[in-house]
Amino acid sequence: MKVYVDNAATTKMSRTAIDSMIPYLESVYGNPSSLYTIGQEAKEALDKARADVASCFNCSEKEIYFTSGGSEADNQAIISAARIGERKGKKHIISTAFEHHAVLHTLKKLEKEGFEIELLPVGEKGNVTEEQVEKAIKDDTCLVTIMYANNEIGSIMPIREIGAVCRKHNVIFHTDSVQAAGHVKIDVKEQNIDMLSISAHKFHGPKGVGALYVRKGIPVSNIIEGGAQERGKRGGTENVAGIVSMAAALKEAVAHIDENAAKMTEIRDRIISGLSEIPHSALNGDRENRLPNNINFCFEGIEGESLLLLLDAKGISASSGSACTSGSLDPSHVLLAIGRPHEVAHGSLRISLCEWNTMEEAEYIISEVPKVVEYLRNMSPMWKDLTSGKRQFIL
Ligand SMILES: *Cc1c(COP(=O)(O)O)cnc(C)c1O
Repeated sequence: MKVYVDNAATTKMSRTAIDSMIPYLESVYGNPSSLYTIGQEAKEALDKARADVASCFNCSEKEIYFTSGGSEADNQAIISAARIGERKGKKHIISTAFEHHAVLHTLKKLEKEGFEIELLPVGEKGNVTEEQVEKAIKDDTCLVTIMYANNEIGSIMPIREIGAVCRKHNVIFHTDSVQAAGHVKIDVKEQNIDMLSISAHKFHGPKGVGALYVRKGIPVSNIIEGGAQERGKRGGTENVAGIVSMAAALKEAVAHIDENAAKMTEIRDRIISGLSEIPHSALNGDRENRLPNNINFCFEGIEGESLLLLLDAKGISASSGSACTSGSLDPSHVLLAIGRPHEVAHGSLRISLCEWNTMEEAEYIISEVPKVVEYLRNMSPMWKDLTSGKRQFIL
């Protein structure tokens, strides 16, 4: 059986997303900046895609900027807010310890430029509160950047409340919504969001295309200099086919958001209850307040990497955490942030679903994972120490 359950890393493109891009590869290949017909047809497609994306978040098309993906959108949002702050002498930025590296590494860069970066601690269930944010805001705070939902443990932040606190103190609020867009309902007005990043390949669209929403009135700085594309805020000939496809994928996801969530939640809950039976294991993140597609466990006494390889041999594609940390020996910064000790954080497994996964696949996962965990534990010197009492169990 082949089971793909790493949808937080990337998703398979939908039929709609593939079909929608073909005309823009095959026949309407003009440059949207060109004045002749096939250029203008491409421009019309871009305009329509922009309006479609805007309608999914309840904003205006003038507030949408297309980018090369979620990472670029995060970079542009944070750099833009930092430049606005700098001009006013405000150089304090608030974020959290468990953001995606696209956010954390951008903040590191700003720290070297003299910005003061404050990373809020994350609760053991993977949450930050609006009270924490309000307490951290100072006179010179120029930006709060907090993810909508965590990509490893699926916990969802109180976005509307955090947004309200930021509005009250006149601080720009950016949210990396890459894991949330197309999966949970987002309304930038109702939720007091000033800037929001999305990425097409996390909701069955193509890789290498994303968007940044910036509320009207907030100046945007370029990170890619070039022509006058994206109203002068992002140089480079537009990825027309990719953008059209992203809009189609997003519209489709948003149209089916409730039924998809219901379906995935049922499968998610079945897997969580099945894997909870493994002794000395623990679910990471909040049991209730989590993305409908996310399951993340720690199994004491094993290495996540070997677990993944053995699961791959059984046809199961899963992850130990973020795609970016896989391949390195450091445990996930997210699991450390929620207080998992190193030795436990190493034995993590993330299963992330899409609406095409089935209950039959869930049963296969529930039957295979415990066998693999037991096999690895039987070979593990750490497990021997734990069972002989030489070392104390943590979980
Ligand atoms: C995938 C992801 C990104 C990066 O998006 P890309 O389009 O791959 O650059 C950023 N933030 C989060 C939370 C993600 O899951």
